[in-house]
Amino acid sequence: MTSILVVEDDDAIRVAVQRGLRERGFAVATAATGLAGLEHVLHEAPQVVLLDLGLPDVDGLTLISMIRAASQVPIIVITAQDDDPTMVKALDGGADDYVVKPFGTDQVAARIRAVLRRGGRESAPESIRVGELVVDERSRTATLAGQPLDLARKEFDVLLLLASRAGEVVTKRELLTEVWQQAYGGSDRTVDVHLSWLRRKLGESAAEPRYLVSVRGVGVRLVDPDAGGA
Ligand code: CA
Repeated sequence: MTSILVVEDDDAIRVAVQRGLRERGFAVATAATGLAGLEHVLHEAPQVVLLDLGLPDVDGLTLISMIRAASQVPIIVITAQDDDPTMVKALDGGADDYVVKPFGTDQVAARIRAVLRRGGRESAPESIRVGELVVDERSRTATLAGQPLDLARKEFDVLLLLASRAGEVVTKRELLTEVWQQAYGGSDRTVDVHLSWLRRKLGESAAEPRYLVSVRGVGVRLVDPDAGGA
């Protein structure tokens, strides 16, 4: 049985999430404070952590880095509103996904399954090569002309998705759905920010693209800049 830790100070939400996830077959422990949650992670090693960012004792972003210092457990952040800057910070700080209150238990359960699937090692493909860019899903590393790229988690996820569909236009909506699990809502801005970071690391810009070619109003595609036809 998959073990979940719910860190949430709001009694009603904590109890409802615990009950809902139990009904769906998860083993659910709870903590009402950040420090109690951290202690549980350290001692009980749950398989997924659901973490409310607004806690009474520890700032949520700080707690993420404290958990990350000790554990690679997938973290799904619970935010009060669709607060883009905080969400981006949480994701870049090591959170794997997030849900916005109010949310349904089915949605949370689906995201828990998704982060567990992504954490799984099964069916990892060969590395993908596009021009001088090589993206390796198994080791979660990428190189450009043999030089390792220093990519944040979501930057790598974006690059992997684009590489797996090289030559094809991938829409921002698809990126939000696949990388951020934002089937509904979510902001193009999130995608734009990550694309601009990726471009910088690939040594290119939106004005002078090489690998990441924007298709205005649609999305972006990854191309081999030396193959022509881009
Ligand atoms: Ca709260």
